[in-house]
Amino acid sequence: MIRKILMILALPVFLSSCSKKATQGKTTITASFYPLFVMLENICDGADAHISMLAPSDTGCLHDYQLTTKDMQAISKSDIIVVNGLGMEDFIDKVLEEKKDSTIVAGEGFLTVDDNPHIWVSIAGAIYEVRNIADRLCELDAKNAEIYSKNAESYIEKLQNLQEEMHDSLDKAAGSKIITFHEAFPYFAAEFNLDIASVIEREPGTAPSPKELSDTVAVIKEANEKTGRNIPLFAEPQYSGASAKIIASETGSEVYELDPAVTGNGGKDSYIEAMRKNMMTLKEALQ
Ligand SMILES: [Zn+2]
Repeated sequence: MIRKILMILALPVFLSSCSKKATQGKTTITASFYPLFVMLENICDGADAHISMLAPSDTGCLHDYQLTTKDMQAISKSDIIVVNGLGMEDFIDKVLEEKKDSTIVAGEGFLTVDDNPHIWVSIAGAIYEVRNIADRLCELDAKNAEIYSKNAESYIEKLQNLQEEMHDSLDKAAGSKIITFHEAFPYFAAEFNLDIASVIEREPGTAPSPKELSDTVAVIKEANEKTGRNIPLFAEPQYSGASAKIIASETGSEVYELDPAVTGNGGKDSYIEAMRKNMMTLKEALQ
């Protein structure tokens, strides 16, 4: 028993001395997952900071994520943690209680619909989160503040240009009905006036039950009949498209791919590139 306690006491000391060697002098900032990491890549470029992410970049959304020992170590080593909040990272809520003052909740204050946490999937939501992260970083890490706010400004300008480009391209399709794969797209759909007629899998990674599948087929068939056309389906690159294919073959609706930008190979422009690809896909599907 005593030995166990000693080991627990010794752990934080070991971790902090370890982290100093790896990132000497730099502010260590850890994002919970990929979309926030890409924001950090832009905001922290050229700053005296070391950025990383907890969940590997191919994880996707964190709805079913399990915290690992490595994650615990990374959290304890970090000066600043950046999370999306709004229920996306329930798995670390307890751990972060202790690091409350150095945790940035990117989605804090965002007016959500049905408690949906997928804010970054709309461009306006991404801008909101970038601004939130940068403002808080400036407070928490004053020595890099000038760089953070300058970078955030220029990234927000890029995002605003993207938003304009997407409006130019998609406004013609306003009011179009689409069917999506998990609940990642309500803010995106609202931004571009698309109407989500149905959501195929509410929990990513879990296949719908036969009853859910046949209900969805019925909803799509009805919507297709009403509109006199086959409403396109949008699967996500991160998840299996098996159920989308079944629905497609039973309803005649075509299957496309829409990316909620939760995975990727990193790179400062990867969010913008994913959204531009979504724009082209939607343009093709909704013409
Ligand atoms: Zn999700």
